[in-house]
Amino acid sequence: MDPVTRLVHAGQDIDRAYRSVTTPIYQTSTFRFEDVERAGGYEYTRLGNPTRHTLEALLAELEGGVGAVATASGMAAISIALAVLEAGVHLLCTRDCYGGTYRLLAHLQRQGKLEVTFLDLGDPAAREEAIKPTTRAIWVETPSNPLLRTTDLSELTAFAHSRGLLVIADNTFLSPLLQRPMDFGVDLVVHSTTKYLNGHADVVGGAVIARNEELNRAIQFAAKTGGAVQAPFDAWLVLRGMKTLHLRMAAHEENARAVAQFLARHPKVERVHYPGLETDPGHTLAKRQQRGFGGMVSFAVRGGQAEARKVLQRTRVFALAESLGGVESLIGHPATMSHAAMPPEYRRVVGIDDHLLRLSVGIEARQDLVADLEQALA
Ligand SMILES: *Cc1c(COP(=O)(O)O)cnc(C)c1O
Repeated sequence: MDPVTRLVHAGQDIDRAYRSVTTPIYQTSTFRFEDVERAGGYEYTRLGNPTRHTLEALLAELEGGVGAVATASGMAAISIALAVLEAGVHLLCTRDCYGGTYRLLAHLQRQGKLEVTFLDLGDPAAREEAIKPTTRAIWVETPSNPLLRTTDLSELTAFAHSRGLLVIADNTFLSPLLQRPMDFGVDLVVHSTTKYLNGHADVVGGAVIARNEELNRAIQFAAKTGGAVQAPFDAWLVLRGMKTLHLRMAAHEENARAVAQFLARHPKVERVHYPGLETDPGHTLAKRQQRGFGGMVSFAVRGGQAEARKVLQRTRVFALAESLGGVESLIGHPATMSHAAMPPEYRRVVGIDDHLLRLSVGIEARQDLVADLEQALA
């Protein structure tokens, strides 16, 4: 079946007693055993819950994996993916990655639990140079955050697998409808379901999806021992949000394209990052690797931070807030908000300037979004 049909019908078969059309919420911590040795399928909600399992099965299917864990947040999912690695190993990571991922990896490095090199993963020479005898994995975000840089996943996994490295991709920015990293050989996919998958800014959640049985056992074990699994009600909300994922992604993208085109022509805008623009350096690759360009746009305002700040204060439809992927449009300032964990000198090297703004373009009427930015820039 087409993923769209699967999204709409997910969970319809789990209620054998009453044949409910929507997924029931199994709001229970524990389940009665049939007798001392035999559980009836579920024992305890940290180990497994039918509502959460419906979401996990759907995510595994959409991403092309064999199993998944739905977690309490995107960062919990990232922690589980990292738990698959042994202590002390070295990994390579996209240099403009999610701020929280940077904070966690930098912290684990300070504690001596991991070693990390942040780099442009699309640069073969830099990659080759960064490899050490202890390197075990590559952490990739494509498109990256907030600069929307695209990395060639097949080329990256070919490089990684020839050296026995695991590839982990954060697919939050596109969702499995617009990009399936496992089709290009990626081993683990993580999501913050807080963003597009749930899509309504009313849940914090995450997921890890495994490509093979061995990795699936490892993530299931990490989830049940660490315990950062998603609550049944939140899993149900994500499932409900996902029913309209295809409609929302199409609307996000149409609006993002209009906004990016408007910004690209505006005299007060220094540059725009959106792979959907034909002038974007990642356009050709994104077109080949993705099924759409998504709803995230970033741009630099001429006149430095003072001018950028004015824009942030003036938008009315775009709400000044962290996060992304919800139906409502948001505007943020990566340097002081989502990427504040990165030291200023590191941000400068990477290109996360003080006058860079990030938009999560929502599904409102296009003309209202463009008009809002127009008045904010005036
Ligand atoms: C938000 C986000 C995360 C973290 O997810 P939470 O649900 O906030 O814990 C990780 N990666 C990316 C790309 C994100 O946007």
